[in-house]
Amino acid sequence: MSGLRRSWIESAKSAQTDFPLNNLPYGVFSVAGDTPRCGVAIGDLILDVALLERENIISLNAAPLFAAPSWNLFMEQGQQTWAALRARLLDLLSEDGDPVLSGNADLRRDALVPMNTARLHMPFVVREYTDFYASRHHAENVGTMFRGPENALPPNWLHIPIGYNGRASSVVVSGSEIQRPWGQLKGPEDDLPRFAPSERFDIELEIGAVVGVPSTGPLSVAQADANIFGYVLLNDWSARDIQAWEYQPLGPFQSKATATTISPWIVTAAALDPFRRDTPAREFALLEHLQDDGPMLYDIDLSVTLTPEQGSETVISTTNHSELYYSSAQQLAHHASCGCPMNTGDLLGSGTVSGPKAENRGSLLELSWGGKEPFKLSDGTRRSFLEDGDEVTLRGAALGDGFRIGFGDCSGTLRPARSRESDA
Ligand code: CA
Repeated sequence: MSGLRRSWIESAKSAQTDFPLNNLPYGVFSVAGDTPRCGVAIGDLILDVALLERENIISLNAAPLFAAPSWNLFMEQGQQTWAALRARLLDLLSEDGDPVLSGNADLRRDALVPMNTARLHMPFVVREYTDFYASRHHAENVGTMFRGPENALPPNWLHIPIGYNGRASSVVVSGSEIQRPWGQLKGPEDDLPRFAPSERFDIELEIGAVVGVPSTGPLSVAQADANIFGYVLLNDWSARDIQAWEYQPLGPFQSKATATTISPWIVTAAALDPFRRDTPAREFALLEHLQDDGPMLYDIDLSVTLTPEQGSETVISTTNHSELYYSSAQQLAHHASCGCPMNTGDLLGSGTVSGPKAENRGSLLELSWGGKEPFKLSDGTRRSFLEDGDEVTLRGAALGDGFRIGFGDCSGTLRPARSRESDA
């Protein structure tokens, strides 16, 4: 494991920052309402790479790549350009690197923006969004609650990474408010469904993989891994009561379409490379097109906190990305196996990352066991599902020796369902 890469930016040397020089995650920012553009997090600052490109200090392409409000154009350039930017950023920001930025006070002032003065936007345009179901612990927990322990794991689960096509239109960046959805609800005792605000609104702790290189045919797992540009934290808000009524036979629909929140920073596969981990032992050998080809999960510690309105924060779950049964590379290879074209900006949710213990469960559905065992918050109150005003924050970091590769907070606050009368 490599140690901390030393930057001349002091705050990037803190063991607490999510953004040491080893990380260099990609986001989109604006300051005081100016034009959103590409930036790179370093310590408590954002490096304005659009400005450095304009000044010819970063020069990767004849046409500008970073003056846009998304990283899609850069992602389309492919792995060589990705590596070239990372190398140039490491050179510009290292203690012993190119002094063109570090040695120029005017340029430093213009190109380095305090993160706490910036607004963070969606880091990329989500072309399409697919959501998977890759944690065995999660699938067994939910299957037990929905269908009973004897049918917990569907028969296909150990052979293919199950997924469904979700909505790109409702993927939002951290900080966006979430509105409690209306939907059709039908409890086990109800004769007929009713249309009402969801009473069992939930979160899902996931990691999202961002496809960088497009493809038009089947991919090997190794090719799929190489095509992934990076990863975000992802909260796949879920209405469990709507889901329970609608999900058979075609899977979730309205229950998952309200919103999906992602972290503002894309952590690159290159930054996470030292933290690769193997998938677990297989109960059945996977068919050849899905077989593991080297370690493709990551040792990323993940947590969820819940903060009631005007209350204090409670950590309600801690788990790790390496608990998953399928890697994002396997999911992408599966997705492409029928010839489905994959595009730059496609987002692949891992599925809820639950671990083996009760405190490792990545959804409230599991933490409260379907509402039967409400869990405790630090103020002594109990929760089964979200209440209006609750703020949920996902955090994640790969822990190195004296540094952390983090994603920034992935937060959202639940607002009451819109009153239908007031719409008139
Ligand atoms: Ca999900």
